Amino acid sequence: MLILNYHRVGPVDPRARYRGMFVSQSHLLFQVELLRLLGYQFCTVIDAVQKKQRGEKTVKLACLTFDDGYLDNFNCGLSILRARTIPATVYVVTKDVGKKNVTWSEAGDSYPSDLMDWDQLRLLQDLGWEIGSHAHDHVHLARRSASAQELLIGESYHVLSEKLGPGPRTFAYPYGSYNQETIALLRNMNCPGAVTIQEGVNEDSAHGLELKRIAMRGYSWRHYPKALQKLVWKP
Ligand SMILES: [Zn+2]
Repeated sequence: MLILNYHRVGPVDPRARYRGMFVSQSHLLFQVELLRLLGYQFCTVIDAVQKKQRGEKTVKLACLTFDDGYLDNFNCGLSILRARTIPATVYVVTKDVGKKNVTWSEAGDSYPSDLMDWDQLRLLQDLGWEIGSHAHDHVHLARRSASAQELLIGESYHVLSEKLGPGPRTFAYPYGSYNQETIALLRNMNCPGAVTIQEGVNEDSAHGLELKRIAMRGYSWRHYPKALQKLVWKP
């Protein structure tokens, strides 16, 4: 299973220090059409994880994931994916859903961004998207005590089921930060799956709470061959 990692969709914000956070609409279109040509089937992370648990082959599954729940995913990304009936997974920071001009103090690239609200997330869910958890606050979990981690993860799942209804949802570690206590917590909560920022492809035997992703970017012509390299040759 191939899990692609995106953040912002649309033109690069000139205030952004890490432009790799952005994928333009034309690059997103190129990347999904390339995956389709390669014979991949698109599904959400929860669907892929459940297929894996049932022992089905996941080698030709591609999951698009969008971290943080940026408003531009809705305004710029949705139309491209909806026209091709491609579902995706969005990982939201539950305490900040619907907020404008959000910055996270532990982020190196801290400039204000607008986030999707619950109505927009509900619409995505109705279209078959998965709204997963990115914890209740965007912090490094590995730097927190086990009890603090439990609050951050537990509250996030509580809010998600209250706002969007019950159902299994996967988790994305903010900043890719986690430790053995995080894994133990998620296992105790029967969390169905969790994605990291470790670069790579997941074999059918992959650990369900340490799934790898491929960080995708695309805002310059140089990223077309890079996308080819990442999606065609690397796996
Ligand atoms: Zn994040």
